[in-house]
Amino acid sequence: MRAIVVFIDQVDVPGKLHPTSHQLLTLARAAGEPVAVVAGPVSPELAADLGAYGVTRVLHSEQPELADYLVAPKADLVAQAAAAVSAAAVLVDNGPQGKEIAARVGVALNAGVITDAVAVDSDAGTLVVHKSVLAGSYTVAARASSAVVVISVKSHSVEAALAAEATAPAVESVEVAFAPSSLGARVVQRTPRAASGRPELEDARIVVAGGRGVDGDFGPVEELADVLGAAVGASRAATDAGWIAHNAQVGQTGKKVAPQLYISVGISGAIQQKAGMQTSKVIVAVNKDSESPIFEIADFGIVGDLFKVLPQAVEEIKRR
Ligand code: FAD
Repeated sequence: MRAIVVFIDQVDVPGKLHPTSHQLLTLARAAGEPVAVVAGPVSPELAADLGAYGVTRVLHSEQPELADYLVAPKADLVAQAAAAVSAAAVLVDNGPQGKEIAARVGVALNAGVITDAVAVDSDAGTLVVHKSVLAGSYTVAARASSAVVVISVKSHSVEAALAAEATAPAVESVEVAFAPSSLGARVVQRTPRAASGRPELEDARIVVAGGRGVDGDFGPVEELADVLGAAVGASRAATDAGWIAHNAQVGQTGKKVAPQLYISVGISGAIQQKAGMQTSKVIVAVNKDSESPIFEIADFGIVGDLFKVLPQAVEEIKRR
């Protein structure tokens, strides 16, 4: 079976697998033999978690160059590990780091790179990648003509599933030869983000996002998010106004999310906002203007004042 490499980063969550990694491993198992490439140590718990998703082989490195947020050294690790196992494909997440790794690995391996993937299957032995295009309006099937293909996968496009039988993966340490250009940057300072207790926007199963309609007051949006265990997102109008941090922005120039439920509040639904959320499974829109374009893509719409609708929703959810 063809080796399908999945990159696993251990910087923020040592010893644990990120939910996105579970999704990538599930996809890799469907496409071939999943091989995990880990930047960092592999504890027995991590090996067991990888085995539960059908990983047979783990290649990892604990070199200090990989222990921080720098992307280029990680791309060196992934490219060299993928070459060592003659991988047919490399899977990374579709976030900024994953896409940069994809591009660098593509150059290193002279491989085709396909971004924004939502599914992978096989046609007569060739991997076919289904990717979302035109801000999520269409899905097209693509295949690379190169021997290896690097694929960045949109989070939540695949439902994570344990393997029918857990494996005990063979864990091998590898020595990465870093390109001099990969070591040209260093981290001089870290400023941890204040913990909100809410899930990360890209990982959340539910997102409640507010726009210009909140008029500077994200209170009702945050309250609804908290009763639902949701992440808080925003339109660019709201982040540009300084009502909420820029890392909450969803859209063409913000984060791309595809949660099970996206609740859009006081957002008109401009094409640049849709680009980041229209592949969400269920979209609920709250807007006081019944002609607002957001209703064209909403599965459920509430025409009303958010300052009346949201508190009622919170009360009802708390009552249940
Ligand atoms: P508006 O368009 O002003 O809509 C506000 C909505 O709130 C209206 O529909 C109104 O009816 C409703 N409303 C007002 N009061 C209430 C109330 N009390 N209750 C209920 N509803 C109410 N935008 C993004 O979001 N993300 C991006 O990544 C992004 N990237 C961009 C990149 C480029 C190159 C450009 C040119 C633009 C980009 N934009 C982006 C901006 C985008 O074009 C829109 O301007 C922006 O999305 C509008 O934000 P909004 O819907 O919150 O505001």
